[in-house]
Amino acid sequence: MSLKTEVAISGGGIGGLTLGLKLAQSNIDVLVLERLDAHPPFIKVNSCSQRA
Ligand SMILES: Cc1cc2nc3c(=O)[nH]c(=O)nc-3n(C[C@H](O)[C@H](O)[C@H](O)COP(=O)(O)OP(=O)(O)OC[C@H]3O[C@@H](n4cnc5c(N)ncnc54)[C@H](O)[C@@H]3O)c2cc1C
Repeated sequence: MSLKTEVAISGGGIGGLTLGLKLAQSNIDVLVLERLDAHPPFIKVNSCSQRA
């Protein structure tokens, strides 16, 4: 299988999804690749801290 995209992002966490959204909003062709096929087994962000 071959895919063409301007930007490929590895990981669909908060960082990858936010970057993917911002690029898509700028009309940049983007593909987010996530290794998991389901939600992770535990919550990783209850509330967003300043550090995150
Ligand atoms: C138990 C726990 C609780 C937390 N609670 C909070 C909280 O309450 N508030 C807060 O602000 N922060 C919290 N954090 C920190 C927060 O989860 C991280 O800062 C944030 O998730 C980092 O986002 P990220 O997108 O960089 O990475 P991640 O969220 O880790 O996302 C990375 C993604 O990349 C995927 N991936 C990895 N390797 C590959 C690969 N080779 N190919 C494709 N996909 C891949 C992973 O499956 C994952 O989905 C917590 C963290 C943990 C572990």
